[in-house]
Amino acid sequence: MVQDRFQRSLRSLRISVTDRCNLRCSYCMPAQDYVWLPRESVLSFEEIRRLVSILAGLGAAKVRLTGGEPLLRRDLSTLVRFLAKVPGISDLALTTNGILLQEQACELRAAGLHRITVSLDTLDPSRFEKLARRGRHAEVIAGIDAARAAGFERLKINSVVVRGFNDDELADLLRFARRKGAEIRFIEYMDVGGANRWSADRVVPGKEIRDRLEHLFGPISPLPVDPAAPAKRFTLPDGTSFGIITSTTAPFCGGCDRARLTADGIWYLCLYAREGTDLRSLLRQGATDETIAGAIRDGWTRRSDRGAEDRFQTRDRGALHSLSELRKDPHLEMHTRGG
Ligand code: SAM
Ligand code: SF4
Ligand code: SF4
Repeated sequence: MVQDRFQRSLRSLRISVTDRCNLRCSYCMPAQDYVWLPRESVLSFEEIRRLVSILAGLGAAKVRLTGGEPLLRRDLSTLVRFLAKVPGISDLALTTNGILLQEQACELRAAGLHRITVSLDTLDPSRFEKLARRGRHAEVIAGIDAARAAGFERLKINSVVVRGFNDDELADLLRFARRKGAEIRFIEYMDVGGANRWSADRVVPGKEIRDRLEHLFGPISPLPVDPAAPAKRFTLPDGTSFGIITSTTAPFCGGCDRARLTADGIWYLCLYAREGTDLRSLLRQGATDETIAGAIRDGWTRRSDRGAEDRFQTRDRGALHSLSELRKDPHLEMHTRGG
């Protein structure tokens, strides 16, 4: 088990399998056109499998596949099959916008994927189109149904709450998730790379989300806290559970066990980190597993990142990056780094 400077173990991996996406959510992908990662730099499934095995040898046990839109990566179920067999990996999950689940949910399940989270911020198709700049709301809803039908029982729905956009839908989204047999998690709007229209007044604090739900549904009870989990979980009087992720107003870096790997093999120790470690070059220069494990161990033992807490201390907080900065380094983008 490898630990950083704050005794945080390396347990969870967010792996972005592509920077491409079939939506253009404005809080994540603000521009009209993009600087995409060159195709030849994108890791092969075999390269990802090897890195995950090395990381599992250092104690990582949880993998979440993300992107961009991970289901756009051709033949993703083959990667799932590889990763499901890596010794030490006990939790294999996917975060997706859901559009392609109708086609892929069954094969992902058969390949050994354990859990799916679908992102859905609104029940209104025209609002969806305004946010995502694509009119594909019905496919997301059908994707959620397809995931249930394929047997994914611990389904989650992620909703980013943006004041003035969807904060009037909290109760409807919660009821929708309950009807679909999913647990909803309300996420505070974050000033991550890509969110270059972020402003503090558009954030709905977790406390306000909780108070509003309590007003509508009655007393809310907290569920036991997992210090490494981003979501604080609660139940309504009827037993419905839900989560709130307070990354912006009450960050939880103290228990953070997550590292991120971009589709082109740059390893980041924090969602907000400016610099990462280039594991692709090590892989492609023929480094041994021991050398790569050494680079990862060194990076993690030196880790002191507390990105969201640092942002919380920032006075006059505005967007993290400008469009011109994002243009210079696509790795700063949320859709490249993986949410
Ligand atoms: N395309 C997939 C999806 O949307 O689920 C996976 C990648 S996406 C970057 C992962 C998660 O990050 C999504 O749930 C998305 O809503 C969230 N996200 C993106 N930008 C965000 C922001 N500015 N604040 C909070 N969450 C954000
Ligand atoms: Fe939206 Fe996810 Fe695509 Fe970002 S990566 S634009 S959050 S669907
Ligand atoms: Fe972990 Fe960085 Fe997120 Fe804090 S901001 S929880 S350290 S990834």
